Amino acid sequence: MTVDMEGFQNEMKTNQVGGGRVAAAKTFLDTFSLDKLKTDGVPLTNDNVKYVWETAEATVAAILNKVSGEFVSTIGADVTGDEAVGVILDTTSFYSEAGGQIYDTGVLEVGSSVYEVKKVLSFGGYVAHIGAVSSGSLSVGDKVSLKVNYTRRLPIASNHTATHQLNWALRQALEREKPDSFMEVNQKGSLVNEEMLRFDFSYNAKLSVEEIARVEELFNEAVAKNLQVYTREVPLELAKSIAGLRPMFGEKYPDPVNMVSIGQSLDEIVANPGNEKWTQFSIEFCGGTHIKNLGEVQRGVIVSEDSLMKGVRRIVMLTRDAARVAIAQGEALVAEHQALLADTNVSDATVKALSVLNKKVGDSQVPIVLKAKLRDDIDTSIKNLNVLIKQRASGLKTEATAYGVALAQATNDAQKFVVDSTDKFGAERELVQAVIDGFLSVKAEVGVFVIGVDAPKDKALVIATLPASFVAKKLSEKKNKFGAERELVQAVIDGFLSVRAEVGVFVIGVDAPKDKALVIATLPASFVAKKLSAVEWAKSVGKGGGKPNAAQAGILASAAADAVVAATAFAKTLEASL
Ligand SMILES: [Zn+2]
Repeated sequence: MTVDMEGFQNEMKTNQVGGGRVAAAKTFLDTFSLDKLKTDGVPLTNDNVKYVWETAEATVAAILNKVSGEFVSTIGADVTGDEAVGVILDTTSFYSEAGGQIYDTGVLEVGSSVYEVKKVLSFGGYVAHIGAVSSGSLSVGDKVSLKVNYTRRLPIASNHTATHQLNWALRQALEREKPDSFMEVNQKGSLVNEEMLRFDFSYNAKLSVEEIARVEELFNEAVAKNLQVYTREVPLELAKSIAGLRPMFGEKYPDPVNMVSIGQSLDEIVANPGNEKWTQFSIEFCGGTHIKNLGEVQRGVIVSEDSLMKGVRRIVMLTRDAARVAIAQGEALVAEHQALLADTNVSDATVKALSVLNKKVGDSQVPIVLKAKLRDDIDTSIKNLNVLIKQRASGLKTEATAYGVALAQATNDAQKFVVDSTDKFGAERELVQAVIDGFLSVKAEVGVFVIGVDAPKDKALVIATLPASFVAKKLSEKKNKFGAERELVQAVIDGFLSVRAEVGVFVIGVDAPKDKALVIATLPASFVAKKLSAVEWAKSVGKGGGKPNAAQAGILASAAADAVVAATAFAKTLEASL
């Protein structure tokens, strides 16, 4: 099954404390219609049989054609729409929406005629069976079979009965276990449908995860015991004297009043109403439909707990299939977390994936207790991973420095330029720089050219350095990480020249995956005036062409390192002729 959580959330937004009624049908029977029913002597609907879960018989007392706005004696299938017709019966087994519990649906049948009951609402004692004829016709005076959809009613009654036990569990957890700091827990409203139950209650603080866990535990213990649900009518005054009973403030109750208790017989309670023992049980005034045993609930999980207004909290609980779906979704998120941790190749990307998962968990409709623990676990994972990544980075940096030192030690003293390529440290700027720093710590007066290769990502980073003495001789440094794209390589040159215009610049853009490289060489006008040619410079490494002040050449990426050496050597000859 799927849970229309979004629809439910929207409904939660539009409903304030209390039940809230189907908006469109709010005035299905307006005062004019009610007056007409009274004038015509139609008796108020007797709905006592709604508590009996069986097919009942009744007589059609009135039919309202809502489309024409008139009471009619017969209605057929030609009048269509979800709220086209209202049928008033002398008695009904359908539950009309009340106390936050959604109405029953079902059919009225007479012979082969069928009337679909889509909504049931009560107006001034008249129960309107709202819907339309789907086949045949229906007339005033017809004796109809009332077939409530009990398959649908069961989870509704189950969720409604669950609100009683939830109310009890909240009192147990919040009042009895924290007697000094609590604000009395009293029901402020509820809304129940097939998929979930919403419960509003007075309380002065946000519930901690531990408190929510305790409420769930108390609730599910009672469900596991399959406690019996008792209902009966009790004289109002006697009912009010029962120990621990808390009527809803401002509510007017009939006399006698319908009562519901869970796990303790009402007959025993009524026989000794003042017994303090009754405070240990859920005992309430209630006219809703209930299940016979709490085991029907199967399992309850709280998926949200929020402030509705100052001093009023709102809880949403899922039961039965909806609870199982929410738990399964939570477990799937736990598995996602485990899968991310199982990847031993941890990196910043793993941390990012964990952060994304954490947000996903936050937005999910999974049990609060599971959600809170999972979010804590993910936070811990992120912290641990960041420490690990940092440690690994500093370890690699030490290694990179050592690598550079070893490279320098292996270099002939006469060598002025060293070119090296390594995939040990990927294309990480900090690490490639560490190789160079390590090298220079041993031999400072050498031009170093290091290519850091990240094979898995198909990219490489080149860092070239020249000692100050070389730079003074106008040899340019070379850096490239922009592939062999002309525009990008040119941008590197333009960037360089914007700072130092009077330098000949020779840049090789390497595209390792495609094994190609682009060379661009430029010379300042003052060099060109002395007959130096950038074309010659470019040609020193491969096939090239262009103008004296700017030329280019294409070479293989794998030849880039050699090209740097060759171009540097050629630059020396250029320099010599200046
Ligand atoms: Zn109830």
